[in-house]
Amino acid sequence: MSGLRDEFAGLAALVTGGASGIGLATATLLAERGARVACLDLNPEGVPEPLLGLAADVTDDESVRAAVAAAADALGGIDVLVNNAGIGARGSVEDNSDEEWHRVLDVNVVGIARVTRAALPHLRASAHAAIVNTCSIAASAGLPQRALYSASKGAVQALTLAMAADHIREGIRVNCVSPGTVDTPWVRRLLDAAADPPAELAALRARQPTGRLVRAEEVAAAIAYLAGPLAAATTGSVLAVDGGMHGLRLRPD
Ligand code: NAD
Repeated sequence: MSGLRDEFAGLAALVTGGASGIGLATATLLAERGARVACLDLNPEGVPEPLLGLAADVTDDESVRAAVAAAADALGGIDVLVNNAGIGARGSVEDNSDEEWHRVLDVNVVGIARVTRAALPHLRASAHAAIVNTCSIAASAGLPQRALYSASKGAVQALTLAMAADHIREGIRVNCVSPGTVDTPWVRRLLDAAADPPAELAALRARQPTGRLVRAEEVAAAIAYLAGPLAAATTGSVLAVDGGMHGLRLRPD
């Protein structure tokens, strides 16, 4: 390896939710660093070359199995799995129906189990196997009006640690990133739907001690670190990329 540029040379990566935002930034960075990369997504049409777009729904076991098999075939295996596909939900515990609870947990939590289950035989065959899950500051920050989403990401964090324990003897590392508010199409959609988008953007910025939104490329860099050989001693960890939201307790000026 000659520096980060070739960090993933010879390795194959599968990124779920890889057609947008954090997933696309991660897939792009892994490819720039030498990986062969497939993006599993509901809508993979816009995925640019050399990334391989694969259509699948992480809530549909059959489509997941087919996409994982297609990725392994096309890439010559799977060394890195990034479980990043996710959806949001707003409101307190009174606001979401049972159907909404089942839907969000199915995508954000069970989706990780489904994709990982299908990818494990390929990861076991790799000498550099790593899984990175996309968690969220919502797992640990007690954010208002995010009951269901926070519960789903709390489960992602717990699942990450349990997976790390279960697969460490097989040489598979499992970690997660915990982003704050990231400037992605998801957040832009939320802003567009807000009553007062500039005020909402200012509030999101102010919530993070750095005073700005996190860039998708900054989360991608953290995911690439956890997925790569430089993190060979790191498993079962949660890496915050949140503008200081979790760790800092700033007093008002
Ligand atoms: P995004 O909406 O820009 O991208 C998410 C991608 O996931 C989309 O391409 C979408 O098609 C895909 N996807 C959604 N449901 C899917 C399904 N059932 N099967 C397959 N693909 C599916 O969102 P983003 O902001 O890049 O978020 C990516 C991840 O980061 C999510 O897990 C999210 O919870 C997490 N996250 C985002 C933020 C943020 O502020 N943007 C903060 C913390 C965590």
